[in-house]
Amino acid sequence: MKLVLATHNQGKLAEMRAILEPAVPGLELVSYDGPEPVENGTTFLENALIKARAAHIHTGLPAIADDSGVAVEILGGSPGIFTAIWSGGRDNAENRQLLLRQLVDIPDEHRAAAFICTIAMVTDDGEVSFTGNWPGVIAREERGEHGHGYDPIFVPDGFELTAAELEPELKNAFSHRAQALGQLISFLNAAP
Ligand code: IMP
Repeated sequence: MKLVLATHNQGKLAEMRAILEPAVPGLELVSYDGPEPVENGTTFLENALIKARAAHIHTGLPAIADDSGVAVEILGGSPGIFTAIWSGGRDNAENRQLLLRQLVDIPDEHRAAAFICTIAMVTDDGEVSFTGNWPGVIAREERGEHGHGYDPIFVPDGFELTAAELEPELKNAFSHRAQALGQLISFLNAAP
């Protein structure tokens, strides 16, 4: 079965391929080079669906897309779908620093947050989605060299280390993306 991944990000393609292909016998994850739709949804699910639908329509193949971000409880779930542009641009260091400044006076017990990842799949048979939620708290300062994005300021529940201090294998076993991919793998392996 060929499955198109609706992203122009080759790093994401390689990462998802490494997880999905060994886990789903007969699966081939292929890249997408068609037009990128405007992501004007108001939820992770809507944005994942917009991307997966565009890739499905353009290629005629079953398509998946993911959308992810961080939701901070005291900010009412923000940055949410604005995670990638929270400081007005796509600079992850500026995005992290802005979030730390916004929470500077917030005590530890009110710093709850979660990384969220939704994967949408669109085929001729319909649409389905899978969501992973990795709860934790926003740290007081950046720590760690691994990972990407908001990892240096996110301490997952059950750990004292930030996601950027965790060994990548450990992050990949627990993360929001790992959870959503696990659900997708079960779905694909259960399909007739
Ligand atoms: P995208 O859905 O891959 O475009 O990611 C949206 C935003 O969420 C970007 O700012 C990412 O840095 C951030 N993000 C998504 N997943 C993670 C993660 O696993 N760690 C840290 N930041 C993440």
